[in-house]
Amino acid sequence: MEKAIYNIKSLINSLLSLLFPSKCLGCEKRGIILCESCIDNFKLAERPTEERILSLYDYRDPIVKKAIWQLKYYHSPYLGRVLGKLIYDSFLEEINSLQMFSAGSPILVVPVPISHSKNKKRGYNQSEVIAKGFISANPNIFKIKKDIIYKKMNTIPQARIENRLKRLKNVKDSFIIKNSEAIKNKTVIVIDDVTTTGGTLLEIMKLLKKSGAKKIVGFTIAH
Ligand SMILES: [Zn+2]
Repeated sequence: MEKAIYNIKSLINSLLSLLFPSKCLGCEKRGIILCESCIDNFKLAERPTEERILSLYDYRDPIVKKAIWQLKYYHSPYLGRVLGKLIYDSFLEEINSLQMFSAGSPILVVPVPISHSKNKKRGYNQSEVIAKGFISANPNIFKIKKDIIYKKMNTIPQARIENRLKRLKNVKDSFIIKNSEAIKNKTVIVIDDVTTTGGTLLEIMKLLKKSGAKKIVGFTIAH
C-alpha cells in the first residue's frame, strides 16, 4: 500500500513537472519561472548607468544574476520573455515619451547581436528573446529590427576584461550596420541583457546615430 502511494506521488510529481516544468528561481515555488514576490524583492539598479541607458535591476542581486545565467547558459528562452515584459512595465514612462517623440511611427527595437557561433551554441540570442518579450507587451507600437546591427568578429567577452578603457577598445569596431535606410529619422530602443560599462550599447547607439536615427535609448535587464 505504502509503495503504491509512493508510486502515485511520484507519478503526480512527474506529471506536475511535465505540466509546470519550472520552479521559481528565487523561492522554488512550482509552476512559475519567477514569482511575483521574488520579482518585487529584486534590487533595482541604483548605480548610474551612462546617459540614455536605462537598466532595471542591480546585477549584484543574487537572483537577478541567477536569472541572467539561467537565460544565457541553461536554455531558458522563456525566461528572457518574462524579463523583457518586466522592462516594458518598469520603463513605461520613458516608453510613453518615446512614443510621443516618434509621432505615430513604430519605435524600432534592436536587440544587441551575438556572434554566430554563440547563437548556434545557445540556440538563441538572449537579447532577442528579451526584446520579443518586451514587444509582446504592446505589439502595436514596436517593430523588432534584427537586420540592422551585426557582430563583426568574436570579441573577448566584456566580463573578462577588468580595465574600463580596454573594455571600450574591445567593443570598438566590433559591430557593423546594414540596411541603415530603415532607421533614418526613427526612434530606436537597443536592448541588451546586462551592461557593465555601457560600452557595447554605446558603440551600437553611436552607429545608429551616425546612420540617421533620430532618437536612441538603451534598455537592459541589469547593470
Ligand atoms: Zn519566488
